[in-house]
Amino acid sequence: LSGGGMRSFTELLLPQHLLLALREAGFERPSPVQEAAVPLARSGADLVVQAKSGTGKTIVFGIAAVELLRLDLPSPQVLVVAPTREIALQVGEVMSAVSARLPAPGLAIGTFIGGLPTEEDVRRLRRPCHVAVGTPGRLCALVENRALPVRDVRLLVLDEADNLWAADAFRKDVLRLAGALPKQKQVLAMSATFSASALAGVEQLMRRPQRVLLAPDHVSLLGVRQYYSVVPEAGSGQVQLEAKARAFLALAGALSFTQAVLFCARQHEAAWLAQRLCNAGFPAAFLAGARSQVERMDALDAVREFRLRVIVATDLIARGVDLERVNLVANLDLPPSGESYAHRVGRTGRFGTRGVAVTFVTAAELPALHRLLVGVPGAQVEELPAEVPKEAY
Ligand code: ADP
Ligand code: MG
Repeated sequence: LSGGGMRSFTELLLPQHLLLALREAGFERPSPVQEAAVPLARSGADLVVQAKSGTGKTIVFGIAAVELLRLDLPSPQVLVVAPTREIALQVGEVMSAVSARLPAPGLAIGTFIGGLPTEEDVRRLRRPCHVAVGTPGRLCALVENRALPVRDVRLLVLDEADNLWAADAFRKDVLRLAGALPKQKQVLAMSATFSASALAGVEQLMRRPQRVLLAPDHVSLLGVRQYYSVVPEAGSGQVQLEAKARAFLALAGALSFTQAVLFCARQHEAAWLAQRLCNAGFPAAFLAGARSQVERMDALDAVREFRLRVIVATDLIARGVDLERVNLVANLDLPPSGESYAHRVGRTGRFGTRGVAVTFVTAAELPALHRLLVGVPGAQVEELPAEVPKEAY
């Protein structure tokens, strides 16, 4: 947990009791995510916080929670939703540590997790409970049978938000919970990664969301809606590519994209595709290793100056090239590796903008695509819907 610019928590201008509690817990200086997110969280902002696991995200919302609590109210004011019992219990412990030096005694933190009898929870909730931490199903049940009153909730935390969003059952419970809470509240979503749908989903629960995104180890696919589209089997080589090109053209006609990058593995295919798109009314630049440096720079300039909206490339530009107005990436072949996929798709959705990525596959290629994405952070494809939601890009 090094690398932060701050020497100590005092630079965050925290109240004395928090500084004391943090010191007693053995924490001397804020981690980078704490440095970046604590001031925003304390200001009451709705936040999406992405930072690697193990970088201290719990304390970010722990501090925000402790500062807004009013002990004179007996009812829950902070609700923390976590995907597993273990995390819920852990969060409860961190909350106790952070609040250990509150000037007044009496802070009650309740953890509510599945697997234990609900009656026990209901009984505990007859006494004061200021912070309720729990798993989605149990919290939802307790709210819906009115054992857990929510009228005073002013902070909702979604810990491991990406996980909460990925599982249908969790997502439904989170949505029900959020719907039951007062409109006036702060929402914090914490995760090591965010799929595009999780990001869009949690931001819908927020009023004016801000993002704290710490440089991940990998290319971030945050903000990119990723789809696959199954095209008819059409034999090999050129004929198959033609089928994919047609599918892309249909998509390009339906989507009001700003700029697009199309990838295919082989240079002669990329060259053919660029020509094919030009013929179809989408003037396209062609970038591949076989082209001279000057030709490549000219092509990139044309895209940057907006003289061209479409660029066809091999993996050459998949890494690092920054084309800020690209909001559509299309793979016309199966990328050679998961890493290649991430780098290609990462051409859009850069720096917190949104984008759409579509991988065109035959039915036979689809399983290989799914295999390719296993373990690629943030990679998650769903089938291309008839209409891509406008807010996706
Ligand atoms: P995350 O939620 O980001 O995965 P946690 O909040 O669980 O990370 O914290 C990971 C570990 O780092 C915990 O053991 C926690 O006690 C410790 N930790 C958190 N903040 C600090 C800090 N500022 N200094 C030292 N250790 C810290
Ligand atoms: Mg955590």
